[in-house]
Amino acid sequence: MKKIGIIICGRYKTCGGGKCLRALRERVGAFTIYPKDEQVELVGYSYCGDCPGGNVEYVPEEMIKNGAEVIHLATGLVVGYPPCPQIRHFKEFIEARYDIPVVIGTHPIPLKYLENHEKLPFWKQTNMVKLAGDLMQEDRSIMEDYN
Ligand code: SF4
Repeated sequence: MKKIGIIICGRYKTCGGGKCLRALRERVGAFTIYPKDEQVELVGYSYCGDCPGGNVEYVPEEMIKNGAEVIHLATGLVVGYPPCPQIRHFKEFIEARYDIPVVIGTHPIPLKYLENHEKLPFWKQTNMVKLAGDLMQEDRSIMEDYN
C-alpha cells in the first residue's frame, strides 16, 4: 500500500481531478511507478495557492500527517502555458523540508498540449523533457486518449 498526495496548479484549481484519478486507476502517466497490484491511496489533494505557490510551504505537512509517503506535482504544472516557473523549486523545497520524495506529474500529458509545447521555445529552455522524463516516455496513443 502506498499513500500519496497531489498538489495541482492554481490555474486549474477548480479541476475535479478526473484525469488524475483515472490515471491512478489505470497506472499511466507518472503513476506507472506503482505496480498494478500495489494498492495506492490518495490521502491529500490540494492546489499550490496560486502564483507564486505559497501553499506549497504548508500543505505537504497535512498530507504527511494523513500518511502521505510521496507527493505528486500534477501534470498541469508541466503542461500549463508556460509551465510552472517554480516547479523545480517546489520539488527541491518539499524534499528538503519534509524529507519525502516528490514526483513530477500525475496523469499523462494530453497529446494536444505536448504538440503545442514542442513548437514553443520555453519547452526546450526549461528542459522539461528531462524534468518530467516519465511523462515523456508515455505512448502517444495514451496521451491522445487523455486529450
Ligand atoms: S504556475 Fe506554479 S505557482 Fe503559478 S499557480 Fe501554477 S503551480 Fe502555482
